[in-house]
Amino acid sequence: MTEIHDITDVYVRIECDLLVVGDSIMTDRHHAAGDNYEDDDPQNQIGGIIPAYPLSGWLRHGMESVVQQHGATACHPGESNADFRKADVYERDLEDGYHEKGACTDEPKEDDGCVIFDLFGGFNGVPGKLMRRPIKFSPVRSSVKYGRGQAEGHYRRLNRNVVSRNEADNREPLRNTAVDAVSNLEGCWHLSFREPKPEFLGLLATAIDYLNAHNTDFMHQLGGSRNFGAGIVYCDLINPLYEECELKRIFDRGKRSTSKMDEKDEQWESNHRHEIEDALAARIDGENE
Ligand SMILES: [Zn+2]
Repeated sequence: MTEIHDITDVYVRIECDLLVVGDSIMTDRHHAAGDNYEDDDPQNQIGGIIPAYPLSGWLRHGMESVVQQHGATACHPGESNADFRKADVYERDLEDGYHEKGACTDEPKEDDGCVIFDLFGGFNGVPGKLMRRPIKFSPVRSSVKYGRGQAEGHYRRLNRNVVSRNEADNREPLRNTAVDAVSNLEGCWHLSFREPKPEFLGLLATAIDYLNAHNTDFMHQLGGSRNFGAGIVYCDLINPLYEECELKRIFDRGKRSTSKMDEKDEQWESNHRHEIEDALAARIDGENE
């Protein structure tokens, strides 16, 4: 049986109708299309990689909100001695639920600082305990390896025009921009704790619930084009007690969960969920003292 203290690898189920992460989607278009790749050909069967940076920022912000809900402050993602263009805004953040990055530890080192610092690490060569992987996506569902933290997703390059408002110009474009987008993203995000701690799981589980509940809040959408409905993420922590075959079953539309999976869900909800949430509360209370 899986012990909560042994869990290092977890998967977050992610569903997003439209995701825009600027120009930072890495596609494998050259493999997929040979010489005849056309940006706007709907037949393109290209996959790619969504880098972990926007995903990480999105998750971190959710975790910070959970820490703040516990009445504590969270490590700001930016160092206090950085050359901010908007130093006054940084100062305002510090009055609003944040402390200076690393201020929670006298001498930044491992196993020190607040839970956010512990997970995300920071400066002075202190590594974070949470490894956030990129998500590899493919439009071909059968080739998606969910157990490796992959997703089904359909890449398009979208062209946007800002056009003239003068009638005589017949909507002549004044400016043209192309953005990379992935639509109908559905799959897993694989996260690894370099060192397992129950409070880490507690923070992750609570933050994912929080992000799902706030998925249309401008601050908690993922990536760009938020006013156009992009980055609304439905997310769910997949039961960490599942085996890989059970995880795959979630994404198989032809199959339902097994009674063993239902048992594990029951076990997770009635035993472990309290355990990890209590561990989180104890950790945050300890930091507040
Ligand atoms: Zn901190």
